[in-house]
Amino acid sequence: MTGASSSKAKPTGPIPLGYGAIDGELAIGGKTASQLAEEAGDTPLFVYSRELLKRRVSDLRAAMPDQLAIHYAMKGNPFPPLLEYMNGLVDGFDLASGGEMELALAAGVNAENMSFAGPGKRDRELKAAIEAGVTLNLESEGEFARAVAIGERSGTTPKLAVRVNPSFDLKGSGMKMGGGAKQFGVDAERVPALIKEIIASGADWRGLHIYAGSQALNTGAIIEMQAATLELAARLSDEASTSPDKINLGGGFGIPYFPGEEPFDLDAVGGALGQAFSALPDSIAESEYCIELGRYLVGEAGVYLTRIVDRKVSHGETFLITDGGLHHQLAASGNFGTVIRRNYPIAIANKFDAEAEEVVDIVGCLCTPLDLLSNNVFLPRAEVGDLVAIFCAGAYGASASPMNFLGQGAAKEILV
Ligand SMILES: *Cc1c(COP(=O)(O)O)cnc(C)c1O
Repeated sequence: MTGASSSKAKPTGPIPLGYGAIDGELAIGGKTASQLAEEAGDTPLFVYSRELLKRRVSDLRAAMPDQLAIHYAMKGNPFPPLLEYMNGLVDGFDLASGGEMELALAAGVNAENMSFAGPGKRDRELKAAIEAGVTLNLESEGEFARAVAIGERSGTTPKLAVRVNPSFDLKGSGMKMGGGAKQFGVDAERVPALIKEIIASGADWRGLHIYAGSQALNTGAIIEMQAATLELAARLSDEASTSPDKINLGGGFGIPYFPGEEPFDLDAVGGALGQAFSALPDSIAESEYCIELGRYLVGEAGVYLTRIVDRKVSHGETFLITDGGLHHQLAASGNFGTVIRRNYPIAIANKFDAEAEEVVDIVGCLCTPLDLLSNNVFLPRAEVGDLVAIFCAGAYGASASPMNFLGQGAAKEILV
């Protein structure tokens, strides 16, 4: 290793805690990366760890107030075996489509513990959810009218909560989903009138859903958002002269993906929420509370393994060409909601303990320059046949990438 060879290296994001080596190889669930690839029968492959999922939920419960229910927002990872496993760990599921509802039901989730948000719910999705007994987080007055009509036609009382478009957003979040004009939820000032209409309609009024953003790592911003959410819930409840049964405080807990990013302080967030719960205004003092988390629960528990199929040099730069790519890991290529491309945490999986000695680009097999998985990373020397691991692949990987691009098809997925 020389200074010259590593000088143009770009940093990578931090490898999540909990990953170790067996015989010098990255190991997940007691098996080496090579064993996992062999058992799966092919690469590329997503590996999700039961142990890391379980640890994440238990750490979260330990830090959060007891009365806070934990929901899994399943859009980040709807892999059926993972859903079944998560169903044993969390208190509820948050869905964003009729297709997700079917997957959750098939995984054994009780419809009582499901809520369904998302703009643009079709009539057939509303009908299926109402008949199954899933709570609808209404996104508009129009959706309320359709839900009531569908409930009447099917002779079922709909369970209705209101998704509020808050007047604040989650500061520093990767994706803002509240504050200003949005396609999500009902503008806060119109919510009290809608609540009164829901109650007057004879529907089963369930409560409020307030979601302000995603992927936040700033502890202070998360605490502030939760305080603002409680304040807003209290104000809307007072204005509608009601006490909601349930209040969904949203989520937004992020994970570090990129160089320099650090986890937020979970204990500080839990402590602040505990204090807020001990001083709730009357109108929301008896409510049940939940948060809905996606990537925070599952993101760090997944690894994408892809095999090197070629090694070549072009104008002095070394390229490791893999059998994977952005069709499975769009986010790692920098094409899923990021402004500047930065490197995800990455390793040569079967040389996990080896010394770094060269700077390489790791690319996918697609015929597009966008298919760059890692740029100028300093890694152990890798050859054709070696396995590359991209971490933070448990959320928004398999389900949020264009797997049919260039006829490539899906990656394997396993839960170990
Ligand atoms: C996407 C989404 C989530 C999950 O977001 P994460 O960043 O994965 O935690 C939760 N709730 C709603 C309403 C969402 O749209």
